[in-house]
Amino acid sequence: MREDFLLLNPGPVPVTRDVRQAMNEPMVSHRSAEFEAVYERAQDALDYVFTESTLDGSSTASDGTSLIFNGTATMAMEAAVANLVGDGGNVVPLVNGKFGRRFKRIADRYASVDPVETTWGQSIDLDAVEATVDDDTDVVTMVHNETSTGLLNPVEEVGEIAAEYDATFVVDGVTSIGGDEFRIDDWNVDVAVTDAQKCLAAPPGTSAMYATEAAQERFDGDAAPFYEDLDWHLRKADSHQTPFTSAVPLFRALAVAVENIEEEGMAERIERHRRQSRAFREAFTAMGLDLFAERNEATEYSNTLTGVALPTHTRENPDAFFDAIEERGVSISGGQAHLGGEIFRVSNMGNLSSEQILRGVRTIGEAFEE
Ligand code: PLP
Repeated sequence: MREDFLLLNPGPVPVTRDVRQAMNEPMVSHRSAEFEAVYERAQDALDYVFTESTLDGSSTASDGTSLIFNGTATMAMEAAVANLVGDGGNVVPLVNGKFGRRFKRIADRYASVDPVETTWGQSIDLDAVEATVDDDTDVVTMVHNETSTGLLNPVEEVGEIAAEYDATFVVDGVTSIGGDEFRIDDWNVDVAVTDAQKCLAAPPGTSAMYATEAAQERFDGDAAPFYEDLDWHLRKADSHQTPFTSAVPLFRALAVAVENIEEEGMAERIERHRRQSRAFREAFTAMGLDLFAERNEATEYSNTLTGVALPTHTRENPDAFFDAIEERGVSISGGQAHLGGEIFRVSNMGNLSSEQILRGVRTIGEAFEE
């Protein structure tokens, strides 16, 4: 792989040299003081990211705990659901893309599910959410930034509805946390999950969760899969360990990546992501392309990933378009599931420079001209 190969896929994203080097250190036991120090560093920096992802630098949560898992965010999503309704209950999952659907599929295994579904790429109908959530609802799940379409969903508005009915609000912030605003208390979020290989810019393999005190009181670890018992994870996290063997090199890399975020500062980082996604949107629109997601007054385009409808002539042979990009040393993604061959997706998550954003635009423009 050439050193300047540019990954613009919506995860995994490029990792900096210091993050890569962290994986190259001599091995230690996951029960050693050295490892506990790594866990603690990662956890402290994650506390910062989870609670201070605001443009004004204000803090948005105080009483929760950040946990780190072996396993990607799908496992963290399942852990949240299973610890809340593992022995049954009522879940309202909001679905307007692949990852909203993933929450629904997870919930289907544990509880009774009453989804609010919208065509992928379109905005969730808040009236339908209001009409569906009621006093019997135990959990509401939603995705903040729908990676499959490029739409930023209205967590604040849904959080108000969940809070009105005292439902536990579980939010997938996998492609927003660490790159965009995320206000845990202000938005009534009880459990937030994120992945290492997205905005945190760490290698894939670990994920993180922030669980408020109120959510922790509702967890029933005995009802969850053995590996995902959050009561146990919380107990071990007190001593900066995981219940089972930690992926030591990945935890080390995560610690460095999240400390780098703290050094940049979340407000600065959010502004950079907004600037870069605006540049992508404006460049693609100037090329005569249409953004895929459909906004309404409650939604925004994603600030971390741009979904664009492929023009008709490219749909005849989308592989040639993606190959032309790859030949120029850049990688982007196509659509997922039924959106394959219909859209392309470009990420600006992590630590990209303006030069890399411009290179992405230039390369995609050249591929269209081929
Ligand atoms: N949620 C969202 C919004 C995502 O974008 C992804 C990955 O792309 C996931 C969850 C879960 O991903 P993983 O395959 O890392 O478990």
